[in-house]
Amino acid sequence: MLIIKSTLLNPSQKIIIITAPSGAGKTSITRFLLNKYPQLSFSISAATRKPREGEKDGVQYHFMSEQDFKNKIDANAFVEWEMVYEGNYYGTLKSELESIWNAGKTPVLDIDVKGAIHIQQQFGKNCLSIFIEPPSVEELKKRLETRGSETAESLATRLNKASYEISFSHQFNKTIINKDLAIACEETEQVIKEFLGW
Ligand code: 5GP
Repeated sequence: MLIIKSTLLNPSQKIIIITAPSGAGKTSITRFLLNKYPQLSFSISAATRKPREGEKDGVQYHFMSEQDFKNKIDANAFVEWEMVYEGNYYGTLKSELESIWNAGKTPVLDIDVKGAIHIQQQFGKNCLSIFIEPPSVEELKKRLETRGSETAESLATRLNKASYEISFSHQFNKTIINKDLAIACEETEQVIKEFLGW
């Protein structure tokens, strides 16, 4: 859901969004960019899902209870938030973006398609949105199965959502097909360099 604009952040600041169906490779591409360019900083979202093995609070997400998340919605603390999967909320905190800009860096958001569209509406040309497309839904299924973090049910949910999300790809500034990860990383890097004038 879109959070409203009365307390909108300064939209003249730049923002980069990497969006994609889950399993399309956006996390690997984002990690590559962040390792290479210290001027970029990952925007850590708030999330109500349980941490996966190896995940730490304040690293992948600010993990929180549903009640805490709802309190933040009421306090207008999010630029955008979504119930990305049934029962699980994810959102971009204004405070997170502000602290990245204050450090003189550009935030990189790894968020879902709807959240990406809402950010684009708020930031206009200061937002670069990149859609990472899997070569096919079949390939995506293989990747999610290999990752091994999904139950049969959550896999089916993610695949259904992926087909739906791919239908939105034309709404973004750039689509990159992730057939070969190294090539996709390089293409994403080029688009970002152009956007930031590097
Ligand atoms: P996962 O549970 O696999 O970490 O992430 C599920 C999905 O939520 C991913 O597509 C991810 O990009 C998206 N997501 C993560 N943070 C946010 C957020 O702050 N806002 C929105 N709208 N989506 C998010």
